[in-house]
Amino acid sequence: MAKWTVPKRTLGEVRVVPKEGTSMRNALVSLALASLSLSIATPGLTAVDPQVKKLRIVVFGGHPDDPESGAGGLIAVLAQQGHEVILAYGTVFRGGRQFFDRPEAEVRREEATAACKVLGATPKFFPFAHETLQADAATVRTVTAWLDDVKPDIVVTHWPLDTHPNHHVVSSLVWQRYQRKGGWNLYFFEVMTDQQTLGFQPDLYLDLEPVRDLKRRALLEHKSQSPEAIWTAHERMHRNRGAECGVIHAEAYRLLEAKPGCALLPVTFLHRKGTNSSANSSRRDNAPTISSVRRDGDGFLSHSVSSAFQGGTTEIRVLPPDRMDPTARYPVIYVLPVEARRERSYGDGLLEVRKQDLHNQLKAIFVAPTFSHRPWYADHPSDPEIRQESYLLRTVVPFVDSHYPTQAAPGGRLLLGFSKSGWGAFSLLLRHPDQFGKAVAWDAPFMQGRPDKYGMGAIFGTQENFERYRLTNLVEQNALDLRDRTRLFVLGYGNFRDEHERFHALLKSRGIPHVYVDGPQRPHRWDSGWVPEAARALLEDGETKVAAPIRGNPAVPSQR
Ligand SMILES: [Zn+2]
Repeated sequence: MAKWTVPKRTLGEVRVVPKEGTSMRNALVSLALASLSLSIATPGLTAVDPQVKKLRIVVFGGHPDDPESGAGGLIAVLAQQGHEVILAYGTVFRGGRQFFDRPEAEVRREEATAACKVLGATPKFFPFAHETLQADAATVRTVTAWLDDVKPDIVVTHWPLDTHPNHHVVSSLVWQRYQRKGGWNLYFFEVMTDQQTLGFQPDLYLDLEPVRDLKRRALLEHKSQSPEAIWTAHERMHRNRGAECGVIHAEAYRLLEAKPGCALLPVTFLHRKGTNSSANSSRRDNAPTISSVRRDGDGFLSHSVSSAFQGGTTEIRVLPPDRMDPTARYPVIYVLPVEARRERSYGDGLLEVRKQDLHNQLKAIFVAPTFSHRPWYADHPSDPEIRQESYLLRTVVPFVDSHYPTQAAPGGRLLLGFSKSGWGAFSLLLRHPDQFGKAVAWDAPFMQGRPDKYGMGAIFGTQENFERYRLTNLVEQNALDLRDRTRLFVLGYGNFRDEHERFHALLKSRGIPHVYVDGPQRPHRWDSGWVPEAARALLEDGETKVAAPIRGNPAVPSQR
C-alpha cells in the first residue's frame, strides 16, 4: 500500500493523504497549466543543438590592444558562441600625446572600437591616464562599482607579474574585487611574454587555428601601435604555447580556482602535453577537459570529461526537453548512477526518464554523469581518483550551469537516486544545502553505520572518513537548518523498507519536514516504475519554478 505523508507547516508533523492518485492528478493539472504559460519553442532549436546559456565575460586589459593580443582568440570564440564579451581598457592616453596629429585618447578609442567589432565584443573605456593609473582607493572603488554593475560571469585579466605598471595595476584592480565565494571566476592571460608578462605558468591552452586570422585582424586595427611587431611577438608565443599542448598555435590561460556555482569558460581547453598522469592531478584540479557535445549510442547529448577527481575518462550525459523556450531557464535533475562507468546491471536512469518522457512533461534538463568507480558520492581520504563529491561539485555542476540554460541556483539543482545513489543524493544535499535544493531517494540504505557493505569500503576508505558522510550524523548536525522547508523525499522501497522506516522516524523526531512514501514494493532497479513519481516529487510542490523565465539582465553601462 502506498501512502503519502506530507509535512504540514507545523514543523516536523506529517499529514497523511490517503490516495496517491489525488496528488498525482493535481500534479498533472499544475503541469498542464505550467506548460500553457510557456511560450512556444523557437523554430530550429532542437535537442541536438540545445540553447547555449549566454554568459557575460569581461576581458580586462591595461590598454587598447592588450585584450586583443593576449586573448583575441578566446574573445572571438566566445563571441561566435553567442556570449557577451566586454573588453575593458584601463587607460587609453598619456598626457597630451598625439597620434596622426590627433589626441591619443580619440585615436585609441577608435582603434579599439574597430578591433572589438572584428571580434564581436563591446568596448569599455576607463578615463584614467597612463602616467597616473594606480590601484589607489578611488580607482579601486570605480572599478569595483563597474564590475558590480556589470555582474560578469567570468573575468579574464593580465597575469599580475608584468613589467608594465599599467598591466599590473589593472590586474590588481580586478583582484581587489575578487571574492573566494560567489561572484565570478577569474582567469589570467599573458602579453609580450618575457618582455612584459613574467613567470606565467599556464595550464589551459586554446587552439587558435579557427580564429587566428580574426585575432590578427583585430590587432591590426591598432594602427598607432605598430601592430605588426606586436603580432610577430605574439605569433612566437602562439607557436611556443602550441608546442606545449600539441597544436600549431595556441593561447594560454590560467584559472585561479574553480569556485562552486560559478561558470567556467565554455571552451574546450587543451592541456600541457605529458600532464595527464595522476601524479600531476593537482595541476589538473582547476582545469577539467570537457569535450563539446556529441550524440552517444543511446542518442543522448554527451560530453567526455577528463577530471583530476576521477580515474580516466568519464561522461556527462544530458537530456534536455525536446523543445526549449529560448527565454527560459530550466531546473536540472541530476540522475545519479549506482554503477561505475556505463554499467547497467540495474538499468539506466536516463533511459528510464526518456522512456517516460519526463524531460518533456516536467520541462527539466536531466543530467546523468558517469563515475570511474562505483559511486557513493564521497571523496576517498587519499586516492585522488576517487573524489566523487568533488567531481560532481567542481566539475559537473559548474559545466552544466555554464553550458545549458539552467536556473543555476540551489533551487534549480535537484538530486535523484536510489540505493547507493539515493544515499548519495541525500549526503550531497545535507552536506551542501548551498548547492542543491531538494533530493529524492528511492530504496536506499539510509541507516548504514559502517562502510562495510555494497562496495562502500573502497570509496569511503576509513570509518573516520565515512562519518563525514554518514546520513544519520548529517541529519543530527543540520536538523535546525533543515526545518524551514521540505527538501528530502523518501520514496518507496525494494530491499530497504526497514531502513526507510527508521530514517523517516529519525527525520520526524528531529522536526525535519520531508515527504515519506511507504511503498509499493518494487524490484530494486531503475526501470521498476518509481522514477516518474520521484522526478515529479522534486518539481511539484511549487518551490522549484518550472522553466522560470529569465529576469532582465542589467544593461551594460555605456562607454564613457
Ligand atoms: Zn599594454
